[in-house]
Amino acid sequence: MQLMIRQNDLNGIIKAAEKSEVEVCGFLFGRREGETFKVGEVYFVTNRLNSPTEFEMDPLEMAKGIDEAERKGLEVVGVFHSHPQCPPRPSGRDLEGMEVWPVVWLIVDGRGRYGAYVLRNEKVEGIKVGIRNC
Ligand SMILES: [Zn+2]
Repeated sequence: MQLMIRQNDLNGIIKAAEKSEVEVCGFLFGRREGETFKVGEVYFVTNRLNSPTEFEMDPLEMAKGIDEAERKGLEVVGVFHSHPQCPPRPSGRDLEGMEVWPVVWLIVDGRGRYGAYVLRNEKVEGIKVGIRNC
């Protein structure tokens, strides 16, 4: 399994994370092709907890984003968020979220590091992040 994302899109998330004292979050919309999750669009959603250690996406913005993506023929291939003060690995709370949203979870820290994870057989598994050119 791997996540393919454009450099610009990845940089956009990293920059937003570096600038923010609270966790930034949102969706990765795109298409799944076999074992590859191709990101076509990054969609930021307001973290309504406004917290540096947890996030909860604003439900109205979530619904709006998913509607727009579906109209373009895209699906939710991932959820992203940041850990301003911690390494980019899923927290206990993230694991609960991964059960609710069983897609790729991309986590970035405040220093440009990142990791992508999926839940497989109730275990967290790191997957490769590749850069797509087109
Ligand atoms: Zn987290």
